[in-house]
Amino acid sequence: MKDTDDNSPGAREPSGFIRQMVVRDLASGKHGGRVHTRFPPEPNGFLHIGHAKSICLNFTLAEENGGHCNLRFDDTNPLKESQEFVNAIKDNIRWLGFRWHGEVRYSSSYFDQLYEFARQLISKGKAYVCALSPEQAREYRGTLTGPGTESPWRDRDPNESLDLFERMRAGEFKDGELSLRAKIDMASPNINLRDPILYRIRHASHHQTGSQWCIYPTYDYTHCISDAIESITHSLCTLEFEDHRPLYDWILHNLDIDSLRAASDLRDSDAPFVLPEQTEFAKLRISYTMMGKRFLRALVEQGKVDGWDDPRMPTLAGMRRRGYTPASIRNFCEAVGVARGESLVDIGMLEHAIREDLDRNTPRVMCVLRPLTVILTNFDDNRVERLRLARHPKREELGSREVPLTREIYIEQEDFSDDPPAGFKRLVAGGEVRLRGAYVIRCDEVQRDAAGRPAKLRCSVDFATLGKRPVGRKVKGVIHWVSAAAGKKVTVRLYDRLFLSENPTPKSVEEVFDEINPDSLAQLDGCILEPGTLNEGAGDRFQFERVGYFYRDREAAGPVVFNRTISLRDSWGAGSAR
Ligand code: ATP
Ligand code: MG
Repeated sequence: MKDTDDNSPGAREPSGFIRQMVVRDLASGKHGGRVHTRFPPEPNGFLHIGHAKSICLNFTLAEENGGHCNLRFDDTNPLKESQEFVNAIKDNIRWLGFRWHGEVRYSSSYFDQLYEFARQLISKGKAYVCALSPEQAREYRGTLTGPGTESPWRDRDPNESLDLFERMRAGEFKDGELSLRAKIDMASPNINLRDPILYRIRHASHHQTGSQWCIYPTYDYTHCISDAIESITHSLCTLEFEDHRPLYDWILHNLDIDSLRAASDLRDSDAPFVLPEQTEFAKLRISYTMMGKRFLRALVEQGKVDGWDDPRMPTLAGMRRRGYTPASIRNFCEAVGVARGESLVDIGMLEHAIREDLDRNTPRVMCVLRPLTVILTNFDDNRVERLRLARHPKREELGSREVPLTREIYIEQEDFSDDPPAGFKRLVAGGEVRLRGAYVIRCDEVQRDAAGRPAKLRCSVDFATLGKRPVGRKVKGVIHWVSAAAGKKVTVRLYDRLFLSENPTPKSVEEVFDEINPDSLAQLDGCILEPGTLNEGAGDRFQFERVGYFYRDREAAGPVVFNRTISLRDSWGAGSAR
């Protein structure tokens, strides 16, 4: 049950400080008693698991409180953005199970209004066109401990600034030659308030507006006005924007509220106008995982991974291709919660959420990853025994499947040992083991290859043991197997952590590359999969019994590929995909 629905005695406080704030705001009638959030990605890369936290927070808060959540692309930097990223982001959000309110929004569709608001600030003497070069501007900005220096253009006549701003827009100046800056306070202890840049010249074409503009507004200037235009009530962002909040408020409070209201009514006539408020929360960080699009982009561009959706990537596209489910990611985000303090979440928590969902919902099949041939010597050559096995050990309603047993089968190489360690319960020469869902067999003879390694086992079946205990002895081990005649050859990819260190905090792209786990991928060709599994309608997510959870990779030339989503238990050990 959702926290807010729970009115029973002893009802819990809604979890998390943002949920509590929203409940308080609704009760006091703040923002007209509405909740309207937005998720504002910049389309400069694919979404990662950190973004999922923000998506879940924004969409769930709206959902729980009868509000709305917009999807708005914060697309003010045409040099790094693209339509490919826009499409991928929309796709990822739908896949996670969320639906945005109305049309997709773009900050770029507010460029006309943003331009008019900038003219308003100039007219009021609150902004000016500055001719300091980017290098000079950096020098003039001052340091964390020392104040900045005022630009010589700071007191330019507003009419002159208006004229220059118009000519900037008309394309009369080169990149970096002029900029529009807010006139706030060069001595402010908060560097963000030292006359921040509102507009830059960039002769670049934009994925939404084409060649219409050669000046582009900055993130800080755009974000607050876009929120106001969309009547956003709670503007939630991550902690690094805390020091930008005074600027967020400065811009909104220095514009005419009636002009903001008019701009908002033009776009969103159904939502009454409010001044949005920004609240910050801690970014999600996960051990052995690196987020940060700059670094992820470098991995993709330099071919260190197989694209943004490489199953080892912390992107939602990668996790999807690996077989993570939307429900498990949502459950994980809920379990992590939303706090003000940063912390490193154990990757085990994410893996737990994945296993929990997959264990409950995934049908079981058998697949032998590294086959060893077994001949059942007393099983007739042409006989096919059709066994019935449950699809799920705990959920009868999921039904059963037919598994053929034939004279020649494969078992896992590691399920036979010449030199069994203490406690080894599987097959040894002269020993017995049960074939999962079938008979107990005894290994009578080991045939070897030229190097002396086991190549083929000759075993006899005890036909009295189907669904029954063997008489007079105990057989502890149960192993998986697949009929050699009926099994399907597939390729399996095993994944391990992409990064070696527990807390990767690279400063440069080179450092990212140094961090890569060289054994993060192992590909096994010639695995043998239970027949039926590849049939139309069989699904694409399975537990390979005793091996792990697997997800069928997208269609490609060659054998069908299964990606290992996750092992059954956390027993493979860090560092290698084997
Ligand atoms: P990155 O630093 O990884 O490149 P970003 O913050 O630049 O990410 P945006 O596209 O600007 O990426 O982010 C969209 C939204 O997602 C923002 O509100 C941002 O605060 C939020 N977000 C980004 N990373 C995380 C994270 N690790 N945890 C929670 N929210 C995040
Ligand atoms: Mg960013």
